[in-house]
Amino acid sequence: MLKLDFHPAGRHFLQIPGPSPVPDRILRAMSYPTIDHRGPEFGALGLKVLDGIRKIFKTAQPVVIYPASGTGAWEAALVNTLSQGDAVLMYETGHFATLWKKLAENLGLKPEFLGLPGVEGWRRGVQPDLIEARLRADTGHAIKAVCVVHNETSTGVTSDIAAVRRAIDAAGHPALLLVDTISGLASADYRHDEWGVDVTVSGSQKGLMLPPGISFNAVSQKALAASKQATLPRAFWGWDEIIEMNRQGYWPYTPNTNLLYGLAESLDMILGEGLDRVFARHQRLAAACRAAVEAWGLEIQCVDPAVYSPVLTGVVMPEGVDADAVRKTIYEHFDLSLGTGLGKVKGRMFRIGHLGDCNDLTLMAALAGCEMGLKLSGVGLKASGVTAAMDYLTTHVAKPALKVAA
Ligand SMILES: *Cc1c(COP(=O)(O)O)cnc(C)c1O
Repeated sequence: MLKLDFHPAGRHFLQIPGPSPVPDRILRAMSYPTIDHRGPEFGALGLKVLDGIRKIFKTAQPVVIYPASGTGAWEAALVNTLSQGDAVLMYETGHFATLWKKLAENLGLKPEFLGLPGVEGWRRGVQPDLIEARLRADTGHAIKAVCVVHNETSTGVTSDIAAVRRAIDAAGHPALLLVDTISGLASADYRHDEWGVDVTVSGSQKGLMLPPGISFNAVSQKALAASKQATLPRAFWGWDEIIEMNRQGYWPYTPNTNLLYGLAESLDMILGEGLDRVFARHQRLAAACRAAVEAWGLEIQCVDPAVYSPVLTGVVMPEGVDADAVRKTIYEHFDLSLGTGLGKVKGRMFRIGHLGDCNDLTLMAALAGCEMGLKLSGVGLKASGVTAAMDYLTTHVAKPALKVAA
């Protein structure tokens, strides 16, 4: 159990790759009174968030909002489109891809896991040529869906979804494309329609800067058509009734009203800043973070610069150093939370989140906490990562967000 000698001064630094810090503006919006979810005011709120969220997914098609964590939306994507015993091709990018595969097995699907051997696959993005070759071999079209994780949160790798689409098309295969961008949405460029994704799964507590508790399915016309034939049991997750009632801004059951207030505020903030600017801000902070890790002389978990994640950076510890012990030291001394290593890389690495409500100084504080904690843990550092990150930020200056009139 957590034992505090006294109340720690200052604020906590929540630098895990989700949940990400919730801005005060969103917390305030969520504190409005809960209203009648069948009343007229609610319909206006429902229509506003349903319209706004489509802009974030870059889709003109329906986006279903569930009062559930991202895992629920994973299940929804599968049960709406597939039938008992269906073969699905899943790609092992890391721990979250592995969890999605387990969920598919539990539902009675037959997932086949594709990927590079050992930990190698956990250091690179999805290899579209492997998917293309496997689909070409499936001449009888037994595979009903291809499932990939866009931003693999366990490793810090952002795969090229457009390339996966091209691989499926090159093989001339009719499988649906299902994508998890739970931690990528509103941080990394994402285009549901343009990339021909059939179901995109996402959640609230990462790039959208909301608390956990709502999640999404963006749905293509092809996925909707598949849902008419799919026979896996579904009730709560069923798209039809939700999409029907969403036309007027309502849900068939009680939605998460206060989180929807928060979502309305988050959409105003993100669309006000502009998606391109939001993405550029994430890329710049991620590059500064990597400059720090490189200066320390430590390895980044992702070994392919083409797929570095703008959301988080995985920092690999030298042989013999327990990453969780370093994280514990950093937490206890500096009130800074970092992401743990998950699954195959447990104890080998920690993760620095730089997503959502994060600016230059938030990142610098996090890196300073890491650098001090690494020193306290006796990890030999080549040079100051903090200085390297500051150098990056001051040689790659962003347009100021605040301007004082002369
Ligand atoms: C966070 C996350 C999940 C799990 O979402 P929950 O909200 O914890 O259910 C799944 N996939 C990815 C890529 C994630 O980052």
